[in-house]
Amino acid sequence: MTPRQLAGFKAALEKARTDARADGPAKIEPNRKDPIAVGVPDEDEQALSEMMQTLASTRNKKQAELLAQITRALRKLDTAPDDFGLCEDCEEAIPAKRLQALPYATLCTECQSKQDPRRNQSRKGLTDYDR
Ligand SMILES: [Zn+2]
Repeated sequence: MTPRQLAGFKAALEKARTDARADGPAKIEPNRKDPIAVGVPDEDEQALSEMMQTLASTRNKKQAELLAQITRALRKLDTAPDDFGLCEDCEEAIPAKRLQALPYATLCTECQSKQDPRRNQSRKGLTDYDR
């Protein structure tokens, strides 16, 4: 990968990180009486509030994972730029289109689809077998 391509991915990753942070963790509101909700039976309000909290925590979790992935990719760009864009499993180059869509991808499409641990026998396993 050329330094120019790497710089492009770095910019994309930094933007993705800024976006993910700007989005901010969803606020988890404690149960409270909202003036607008006056007239809504307590039971419904309670259910709605619980649903919102579940949604918010799922979203926060996903966002935290995304941020961790972005941070990891940025670190890789700094410490091992030669490895950036290579699949961490089969070590093949990740297709440019995939990287452009997901600059923090660490696996090629094929290996990503093989994340099922039972089928997680990579080329490395075959090489070891020859020794
Ligand atoms: Zn791969």
